[in-house]
Amino acid sequence: MDHPRSTRPTPPRRGPLGHRVFSLGELLGIRIGVDSSWPLIFALLCLAFTQSFEARHADWSAALCWSVGVTASGVFFASVLLHELGHSLTSRAVGLPVVAITLFLFGGVAQLSGEPSRPRDAFMIAVAGPAVSLFLGLCFLLAWLLLPADLLAGTVSSFCVQLGVLNLLIAGFNAVPGFPLDGGHVLRALLWGATGDFERATRIAAGVGAVFARLLIITGLALVFLAGWYAMGAWQVLIGWFLLRAARASTTQTVLRAALERLRVEDVMSAELVTTEGYTSVADALEGPLADAARSSVFVVEGGELIGVLGPAEIARQPPGRRPFVSLRSAMTPRSRMVGVSAREKVLDALLLMGELAVDELCVFADGAPVGEIRRGQVQAAAQARGGR
Ligand SMILES: [Zn+2]
Repeated sequence: MDHPRSTRPTPPRRGPLGHRVFSLGELLGIRIGVDSSWPLIFALLCLAFTQSFEARHADWSAALCWSVGVTASGVFFASVLLHELGHSLTSRAVGLPVVAITLFLFGGVAQLSGEPSRPRDAFMIAVAGPAVSLFLGLCFLLAWLLLPADLLAGTVSSFCVQLGVLNLLIAGFNAVPGFPLDGGHVLRALLWGATGDFERATRIAAGVGAVFARLLIITGLALVFLAGWYAMGAWQVLIGWFLLRAARASTTQTVLRAALERLRVEDVMSAELVTTEGYTSVADALEGPLADAARSSVFVVEGGELIGVLGPAEIARQPPGRRPFVSLRSAMTPRSRMVGVSAREKVLDALLLMGELAVDELCVFADGAPVGEIRRGQVQAAAQARGGR
């Protein structure tokens, strides 16, 4: 149906770096995508693998080095995907559905549909990824130990040892107890469980994450300028910079959430209800108060009394050709069936209700009488003002 909002195009999906995400399809009901940086990263990885095989196996032909290199890159990304699936499937098992997995620059990220509500769930979800990598690493190393060294001209054993070590590195790197790495999530879950203070636990985990990120940047710069290891140093600086940004973002987000938790509807509402007379036509309301992109409903009055509300759902019931001839009074939901919020309610609950009703404002009632309205935009502004220290 056409209500004013549904005509806006949905923006393309964005990855963790803000790049576009290209879809690879679905696996176990989870959308799998790759960041637009991925083809370049994959090419570099193929090159790095191939060169390392060339350096260690002078007897291998160039074609053999390349085929083992490309296969190893593919299996490496599959390992990263399995790591993310470990987080995702655990998350789903504790009742928190997963939206998508995106592979990017130096790994992947699983987008959960929300934050886990219990420290124990958060701990399980965070631990699952490194556990998968650790398991994969040990499997590859076991295969390297057990399979004959000369199998397929030594390619199998060389391949297994490389991927075994890399998976152990992924497990080890992610176990660092700083946000946004998995170990940071583990640390936060433990502190949260011990103190019951989610906000403080996040600040501490993000603080450790920021220290680790700075260490990576400093040692990366040292590698470039003192040791002349340009590629490795630059790579490390890039990862450090990314982690630092993510650590800061997670603190801001948590502080915003905590600020919202404390806010009541009366703290942010405006005391004036924006109203329109009942005899106005739906078409006139769409060109009048509803022409404002930040508004999706109007409160209808007659003789100074609130008599109902007209929002996207009510508008959608009126075919466009009829809108100039239908009054708000006959198209609205009457006051007796109107959904509003009380001034004492939490802002977070009001936001949830707005989401359910697909509206951007709600009427605020106190003792059954309308006392004003709360708008989505006001909530964001208030939360930022209080949270953005
Ligand atoms: Zn992980």
